[in-house]
Amino acid sequence: MSFASLGLHPDLLGALAARPKYQRPYPIQNKAIPAILQGRDLLAIARTGSGKTAAFILPLLQLIHCQPPGARRTLNVLILVPTRELAAQVAEVAREFGQKLTPSVKSGAVFGGVAINPQMIRMNGIELLVATPGRLLELVEKNSVQLSSVTALVLDEAEKMLQEGFQEELEQILALLPNKRQNLLFSATFGAEVRRLAGGLLSGPLEIEIREEVVGAELITQLIYTVTPERKGPLLRYLIKNGDGEQLLVFTASQKRADNVVGKLLVNGISAAPFHGGLSQGKRTAALDSFRAGTLQVLVATDLASRGIDIEFLHHVVNYELPRSPNDYIHRIGRTGRAENCGTAVTLLCPEDMAHFRVIEKRLGQRLARIDTAELDLAGY
Ligand code: AMP
Repeated sequence: MSFASLGLHPDLLGALAARPKYQRPYPIQNKAIPAILQGRDLLAIARTGSGKTAAFILPLLQLIHCQPPGARRTLNVLILVPTRELAAQVAEVAREFGQKLTPSVKSGAVFGGVAINPQMIRMNGIELLVATPGRLLELVEKNSVQLSSVTALVLDEAEKMLQEGFQEELEQILALLPNKRQNLLFSATFGAEVRRLAGGLLSGPLEIEIREEVVGAELITQLIYTVTPERKGPLLRYLIKNGDGEQLLVFTASQKRADNVVGKLLVNGISAAPFHGGLSQGKRTAALDSFRAGTLQVLVATDLASRGIDIEFLHHVVNYELPRSPNDYIHRIGRTGRAENCGTAVTLLCPEDMAHFRVIEKRLGQRLARIDTAELDLAGY
């Protein structure tokens, strides 16, 4: 299938054609775009990396474009997201494509942790707004945004929104929206809480499930190093110093451990920064920006913080500690080997991790060879 066969506006097709990476629609886009254009509700079980953002942004921009002039320059589309990073990321996709339509669609993002006044000023004439729930309610309270004209609502990463305790804010926002509207719900998982949310929100939705595949597994080299806990730090530094100078995304199981690993890397002259929910917004943004710009060699992240972050062209991922769920393992290693890029995922495996790692292998449907590092001379690392 091609983007043209999905019913998209020629200006959007032109914008897609100008981006070489958008060769053809991803499965979620094939299914979601025509349904959204028809005004249907949608329930999509899909994670970051599936192409879900373009799957809802493109048709929603088009629906705004098709509104009569009198319905423009008011808030048409509201997209709720759990994190500031995701808000900025989704808004960037909306800005990029929205400016290609004539007249362009005015879009923006609002989230907490930064000053509210500049955001209030940008609300004037906004048509597509990406928001975290708390900050949106603050803006509503200050009368800078009206929700009564919303025609479409998107809940992105709904499972995370519920996990992070946004239930009450969500309910308050839903109560402020017009009853007649299109609803799109995206979630990585479909547990009881998401199910309940979907039940109350969606009417006759198209249901799409993009099964978590081992994304491009054949492109990913998985190296499993067995190591004792006290040699983990030196082994990581050995791998970095003897590598090709490429950037690495290192995963830890806790915020404290992420800080710890970063501290040791810095002492050893390796440029590194932590990325987790315990940091201020400024620090998170700065870390991500310098990692994306290539000035930071190592980003040490927790699973929760790293979800939803789209970092392209990453060749190396290190599991300093195993994730709790096999799906998170797949999600982590899927950050490398995306698109046509091959990557390497290194896992540092301690004796106490063995049983848990076997569960992960079962989910992968693969038994991976262990590489024993006991003989490796790590002196000086
Ligand atoms: P998402 O799941 O929305 O976070 O998207 C993950 C990544 O896939 C982003 O870098 C998108 O730019 C990219 N992407 C989305 N759709 C396509 C497509 N049809 N072809 C190639 N890359 C895409």
